[in-house]
Order: sequence, then structure tokens, then C-alpha cells
Amino acid sequence: MLQAVTGVHRGLFHSRAGLSVRMSSTGINPKGLLANRVAVVTGSTEGIGFAIARRLAQDGAHVVVSSRKQQNVDRAVATLQGEGLSVTGTVCHVGKAEDRERLVAKVLEHHGGLDFLVCNAAVNILVGGTLKASEEVWDKILNVNVKSPVLLLSQLVPHMENRGMGAVILVSSIAAYVPHVELGVYNISKTATLGLTRTLSLELAPKGIRVNCLVPGVIETRFSQVLHKDEFFWNNFKKEHKLQRLGQPEDCAGIVSFLCSPDASYITGESFVVAGFSPRL
Ligand code: NAP
Repeated sequence: MLQAVTGVHRGLFHSRAGLSVRMSSTGINPKGLLANRVAVVTGSTEGIGFAIARRLAQDGAHVVVSSRKQQNVDRAVATLQGEGLSVTGTVCHVGKAEDRERLVAKVLEHHGGLDFLVCNAAVNILVGGTLKASEEVWDKILNVNVKSPVLLLSQLVPHMENRGMGAVILVSSIAAYVPHVELGVYNISKTATLGLTRTLSLELAPKGIRVNCLVPGVIETRFSQVLHKDEFFWNNFKKEHKLQRLGQPEDCAGIVSFLCSPDASYITGESFVVAGFSPRL
């Protein structure tokens, strides 16, 4: 038992004191908190994933961006490199096994391993209730949103463990807590992401890898236009939850950087709502 406890102290629950954190005359340099760490962010050429990739890189990490389309990857990499950030990119449709393998190979080729995986890519291909969903719709949404993060992670875990600071962030949705009747299967996929966070956090604790979950509210991106451009829905939603504004992708980025950082070294299995209101007690 004592041995097990000692093992935990060496891995998941290491304290900040043991880490090399760059100091400046004013204290810890926040830009250096993730220095020399390697992060992979899926679905990161625009929207929330892009804001997360930019923030992790600003905080010192080498970031690998990816999405389905080469021109989007090229644009995102050029923009972030133009800001002086350490970023590379590769095409990866997270639902395709060959693309996941290529992503893993690229990460190993460029960096030899990684510390952080942010599973942000997701789809919703049906506006309608669960009872209207075909088997094809169920398979596609569950494959991309629930199965693919685990399949990608299973390939990356051997290259994440024993680096002292492993962190996985899964991206759920406020739809997991406040389901939208027109987003049936998507709601369920995002509820599954909360469960995945808890289960994976237990499985990966002995390997020193923490698993937490970002739960965005309505954030202004292409993906959420169906919600925030629907005046009836949006006005009601704002009124009901006393929302003062529409969320921005950058609102979701700082919490992810924090969850990767040594400040979060004792936090795992948790979900963090970034919605301008709380759906929980
Ligand atoms: P977005 O602006 O539409 O961006 C989606 C990104 O993912 C793009 O870079 C896109 O590029 C890529 N992508 C799409 N399908 C992919 C796939 N199968 N494999 C790999 N990359 C893929 O979306 P977003 O609003 O930022 O959403 C990001 C995440 O936040 C999703 O998990 C979503 O469920 C969640 N979320 C969003 C909101 C919101 O209000 N926006 C609320 C709650 C949760 P390509 O087209 O090049 O692939």
C-alpha cells in the first residue's frame, strides 16, 4: 500500500516544486509555464481548437495543429508561426485510422513524444431529435465524438507516460447538461464525453496522466451558428441563464492551459463549464 502511495506521489500528484519552471524577476513567467512541453490539439485550425492551440503555444508549448483539410492546416500554421509561436501541423480527420496514425508518426518524428492531448474535434450532422437519427448518423457522431479520442489517445499514451506532466483535455458541451431538443445524438455524445473523462482519469492515473474536460457554452464559431444565429433560441437562452454576452473561443483557452500546467497537478477527472453561467448546483 505504501508503495502504491509513493508511486502516486511520483506521478500524478507531483508538486510544482519538482518541475523546471522559468522564473523572472517578478516571479513565475506565465509564458514559460508550458515551456519545452509538446501539445497536440485536434480540430485546431479554427474556432475553439485554434484559440487553444494559440494559447498553449503562447504559454511556451510546441503545438501540433490538425484538421481535415490541408489548406486549413497550412493557414493556421502560417498564422501562428507568423506570431512567433512554435507550431507545426498535419492533416488528421480524427475518425480515420490512417490519419490518426499519420498524426502520431508526425508527433514522434518532430518531438519524440508529447505531454498534452486536447481532443477538440467533433461533428454534428443532424439537427433533429434522437428518434429521427438513422444508424449512419449515430455511427458517424459517436465515432468522431466519442470513439476517436480514445483510439487516438491509446496510440499516444506510450509516448506521454513517464514525462512527468501528462494531461488530456476532452471537449464536451453545455448540451451535455442542458440538452437542446434539436441536437439529440450530439447531446448524448457530449454526455458520453463526461463519462469518458471520469473513466480515463482512473485508467491513466497510475501512468501519471491527468484527464479533465472542457465544457463550452455557446461560443461564437462556425459550428454554433445554428444556435446563436437563431434569434428565438438565442434570446430565450440568454434570458433564461442571465447571459451578458456570447462566448468567444479565447474564453475557452486559458482554462485548458491551466489544466495542462503544474498548477493543476492535483486535478483530474473534473469537468469545467465555460458558459457565462453554471448548469450545476
Ligand atoms: P469550429 O469553429 O467549426 O471548428 C472546428 C474545427 O475542427 C475546425 O478546425 C475543423 O477544420 C475541425 N474539424 C471538424 N471536423 C473534424 C474531424 N472530423 N477531424 C478533425 N478535425 C475536424 O468548431 P468549434 O465551435 O470551435 O467546436 C470545437 C469543439 O467545441 C467541438 O468539440 C464542439 O462540440 C465543442 N463545442 C462548441 C460549442 C460552441 O458553441 N462553438 C459549444 C459547446 C461545445 P476542418 O474543416 O479543416 O476539418
